[in-house]
Amino acid sequence: MSDFTKRVCNSWRDLGQSWTIPRRSCDIFSITKWYELKRCTSHNLVMMVARAYRYELDPNNHQRTLLYKSAGTARFAYNWGLARRIEEYKSSGQALNAIELHRELNARKQTEFPWMYEVSKCAPQESLRDLDRAFTRFFERVKTGKRPYGFPRFKKRGGRDSFRLTGTIRVIRRSRVRASIQLPRLGRIRIKEKRRDSFYRGRILSATVTRRADKWFVSITVEEELADPDEKSHLPEVGVDLGLTVLATLSDGIRVENPRPLRRYLRRFRRLSKALSRKKRGSKNYEKAKMRLARLHLRIHYIRQDTLHKLTTRLAKNHSVVVIEDLGVSGMLKNRRLSRAIADVGWYEFRRQLEYKCSWYGTQLVIAPRTYPSSKRCSRCGHSKVTLELSDRTYRCEACGLVLDRDHNAARNLLQLIDDLAAVSCTEAQNACGERVRHHPSSARSDAFSRKQETDNR
Ligand SMILES: [Zn+2]
Repeated sequence: MSDFTKRVCNSWRDLGQSWTIPRRSCDIFSITKWYELKRCTSHNLVMMVARAYRYELDPNNHQRTLLYKSAGTARFAYNWGLARRIEEYKSSGQALNAIELHRELNARKQTEFPWMYEVSKCAPQESLRDLDRAFTRFFERVKTGKRPYGFPRFKKRGGRDSFRLTGTIRVIRRSRVRASIQLPRLGRIRIKEKRRDSFYRGRILSATVTRRADKWFVSITVEEELADPDEKSHLPEVGVDLGLTVLATLSDGIRVENPRPLRRYLRRFRRLSKALSRKKRGSKNYEKAKMRLARLHLRIHYIRQDTLHKLTTRLAKNHSVVVIEDLGVSGMLKNRRLSRAIADVGWYEFRRQLEYKCSWYGTQLVIAPRTYPSSKRCSRCGHSKVTLELSDRTYRCEACGLVLDRDHNAARNLLQLIDDLAAVSCTEAQNACGERVRHHPSSARSDAFSRKQETDNR
């Protein structure tokens, strides 16, 4: 076994310990923006990021009612604000902003909407801010001529309930008792989180409470310091080919199967949808059937997210460079025979997660151009095939006789892109100053590769 393959195997064996993926109820999911880079006392660069942590709530009956009321108030305030803005624009041509609307709402609260006092004042305030943001986005799209313009819409009852809270928010974790979260006006609500390492470190900016099916989640936005990622050049580079039956094939031959949750649950999905359509709208049974369907949706979503999170974290944490293809997802979704399968994989989500995780762990992400011949080219000799049918699952090279799994060949071609790019920049440098080209370390790697390939073929 060559040094290179040994290194790969070791790093993957280590995964067992280093793999810290939060479980279902908690989910570190997005980087909203890069704050700033600043130097801390130990002279290391520190990156300030806003990260969101999501926990599933475990409310009691009283709290559940309050959650529904808060979400209802937030929705009411949004719709009221939208109606007021439209009305005001029609009568005077003026646009009302969130502050003016909030002032007016506060003045009318006591007489017209006294029930609003039951919930936190943040709920209506924050949804008026959301309305402002919705209008800003709408104006921007109109200005740039992007269609659809997306004029803010009224929110319906029973859809996705949510509200945001600011102020004193605290997560209480104890060794023996279940953890809970302290929210303004709602008090302490237990959270379904047992792992201690999935808790945040940093300052809480806000908390957003959302309902999906009959489950409630809280997502806290935390301002966190991320240390400058460690030097990663000793870690291997990897090319990733995405597919439908096999979710990802890596250039080192590892295949990650696709769970395809929608296909797995399609029969149940159809049965529940049919059952829902037979119920009388607005009846108790209709509501029950709707909830059953919503729970199935949620389960499918969980399975999909779980697989993608595990894969993208593995890729970002254990490699110095990750090369992926640039897939025109929206174009491919138009292909009717493939669209459901593609949507079931979640390629777009894969790329989104990989992008922010690579920035956390200091991994370089290379996206191959759409014209890059990743599947038609031979990864050993560089010979290009003229035609390659989608049904050909094995790649057979006419020039050098390489026989390899089609996706594996593509992944190795993607990895080769790093060398191609290095070669381009080297010749450019040579042309610019006429110096000798520096020996690129990756050529040693390609030797290891051809050796590995031979063991593969044996
Ligand atoms: Zn070949």
